Amino acid sequence: MSTLRFKAVVKASERVPVDVPIPDKLPSENFGKYVFNRTQMSKYLSKETLKIVLEAIDQGGVLQREIADHVAAGMKIWAMERGATHYTHWFQPLTRGTAEKHDSFIDYINGPGGGIIERFPGGLLAQQEPDASSFPSGGIRNTFEARGYTAWDPSSPAFIIDDTLCIPTVFISYTGEALDYKTPLLKALSAIDKAAVGVCKLFDSNIKKVYSYLGWEQEYFLVDEALYNARPDLNLTDRTLMGHESAKNQQLEDHYFGAIPPRVAAFMREVEYEAYKYGIPLKTRHNEVAPNQFELAPIYGETNLAVDQNLLIMILMEKIATKHHFKLLLHEKPFAGINGSGKHCNWSLATNTGIGLFTPGKKPTENLMFVTFLVNTLMAVYKHNALLKASIMSAQNTHRLGANEAPPAIISIFLGSQISAILDRIEESSQDDEITVEELTKMKLGIAHIPEVFIDNTDRNRTSPFAFTGNRFEFRAVGSSANCSASMTALNVAVANQLINFKNEIDQKTKAGMKKEEAIFDTIRLYIKECKPIRFDGNGYSDEWKEEAKKRGLDCETSVPLIYDAYTSDQSVKMFERLGVLNERELHARNEVMWETYTKKIQIEARVLGDLSMNHIIPVATQYQSMLLDNLFKMRAVFEEQKARNLSKEDAVLIEKIASHISTIETNVNAMVDARKVANKIDDARQKAIAYHDTVAPFFDIIRYHVDKLELIVDNQMWPLPKYRELLFIS
Ligand code: ADP
Ligand code: MG
Repeated sequence: MSTLRFKAVVKASERVPVDVPIPDKLPSENFGKYVFNRTQMSKYLSKETLKIVLEAIDQGGVLQREIADHVAAGMKIWAMERGATHYTHWFQPLTRGTAEKHDSFIDYINGPGGGIIERFPGGLLAQQEPDASSFPSGGIRNTFEARGYTAWDPSSPAFIIDDTLCIPTVFISYTGEALDYKTPLLKALSAIDKAAVGVCKLFDSNIKKVYSYLGWEQEYFLVDEALYNARPDLNLTDRTLMGHESAKNQQLEDHYFGAIPPRVAAFMREVEYEAYKYGIPLKTRHNEVAPNQFELAPIYGETNLAVDQNLLIMILMEKIATKHHFKLLLHEKPFAGINGSGKHCNWSLATNTGIGLFTPGKKPTENLMFVTFLVNTLMAVYKHNALLKASIMSAQNTHRLGANEAPPAIISIFLGSQISAILDRIEESSQDDEITVEELTKMKLGIAHIPEVFIDNTDRNRTSPFAFTGNRFEFRAVGSSANCSASMTALNVAVANQLINFKNEIDQKTKAGMKKEEAIFDTIRLYIKECKPIRFDGNGYSDEWKEEAKKRGLDCETSVPLIYDAYTSDQSVKMFERLGVLNERELHARNEVMWETYTKKIQIEARVLGDLSMNHIIPVATQYQSMLLDNLFKMRAVFEEQKARNLSKEDAVLIEKIASHISTIETNVNAMVDARKVANKIDDARQKAIAYHDTVAPFFDIIRYHVDKLELIVDNQMWPLPKYRELLFIS
């Protein structure tokens, strides 16, 4: 009997919810307790310092070292009063998650022997050299210039985790290139601000700043810790590489929005209490579609901060899950055959005057501005659909896309029937229609009707990777474990670039004598025609769509390593350089890192799959087969030959089936090892990733198929790995 599996099942079944006491304070009273936010700054910084820091935050200026000293002094006192003894620069390397290297505040007073005090000079706040030479840099840092620097990003507040003051920073090389996700994001946000303000000014001269907003929805699975530990594949790869479907899955859809199981409810409560202390405004929590799958989402916020908060919540969730004897699975597709996890990125732009640029307005000028931003976004996504796909792609996310309510690996935009109708009417209107802004109110184009229309925004299409949802776009292709920076950088850059082009066209047309509104309409009309191929409201899973998308010229590539090529296409390089977000060398270096990461993931999965098949599954299957054989012989001892044969007919069939599955598994595992050996000899990162994709990964499904068949045959008592029904239904 498989003792580990059954012990784990018993352990998991006996668990009771961890007690999470209700805090004696309201969420609003605890909110931001661990964050050095504006309120805390005003208590711990002098008026002059505060003013300069806030200016730097709001206008993106550079802080002088002297100011950094003042801020560090205030921050240190604030942190120490809350029990912090260490500090760390908290940065976002190109691998998963965040990185930290803790240093204690202590220092000798006057050299060794002089006693010890807590010190935190501004230099250490503003900049650090964590070395960190083991982080991937895609060749930007050779060993002799391996230095990497972290530098404080004042627009994201410092916070305390346990005893450590965490200071959000960018991570750059000795030569100034970005080695992280934050650096290009900050540049992209400043680019979209400038470009969008330029366009806004066509409509309203009071607009001085445009903010990019992000509201992420984080999906995740929880699996009992004991069961998780009995699955080496979950342990090492974050997903199940084998496992036959459970008889009951998500077909009844009884989990979605159902009552939250008590152990999970306790976990969620604690996550919320903690999140509030970190100033993360969690708003919703619910069961998702798949069994043991859940979601949480905050109120949206400024993109840079929202990204940091998402990274932080992933850390908090992981920690708190352990306390509740769960393992948190952020992998995009931990279980085959049921829904995977995404991180829908709700994205919008809004002005300093409080106007949402994707919110249909009340005034005609606002509506024209709305249509302008909407259509420019369509254009940007159309022209850069391959890049946007590259920005969400990973070894994990590729399993999720194209099935079980996840969007396919083709980027298109869902607008819904009302908005589509409006765009169609603008497109059909001719030059002679002489549309004026005033007429927008008279609903000649139906635009004045938009606000009412949106009362009903149930117009949902879960298969769309990029959907308009009433006042924002929802980028649904983003994966659950991703750092949203990648997709937010690509999207904001693409839209910024497009807005600059638009503004240039308007300027040219008005210079040539066209009236401003006419120029805007004229350009929009042309854009609507041009970017039509990106609009698709139908079923993204159908084969017809794949055919159709190809005809429309959309990027249909499905190979992860090749999808990354979109980052270094002439078009992308030109755009990233034009906006000063990433240069060609940086783009190439980042692709190197992505190819390497892809290769390593597939390599690890291949090893684990080989090991599990050969050392866990086949021995057990062989043992069961021997039992059947043994039985067959014994039957002959009891019954006469023909009768024994008849009675053991089915056993004989099973023995043959087992033998056949075992031999197919062995053959394929061996072939997979050989393919790996060949791929490992390749030096070029891109070619190696392609080899892993084309020649190693294809074995996964074949091997899995036969292992899963064995799971159906072999005695349940002997099966070594917790089954899907156990992983998914015990909580
Ligand atoms: P749904 O599941 O219907 O998409 P949720 O409430 O789960 O909705 O998540 C919606 C997310 O979108 C939330 O984070 C919400 O704050 C965010 N959001 C709402 N309006 C905007 C907006 N204008 N810009 C960006 N995000 C927004
Ligand atoms: Mg959503």
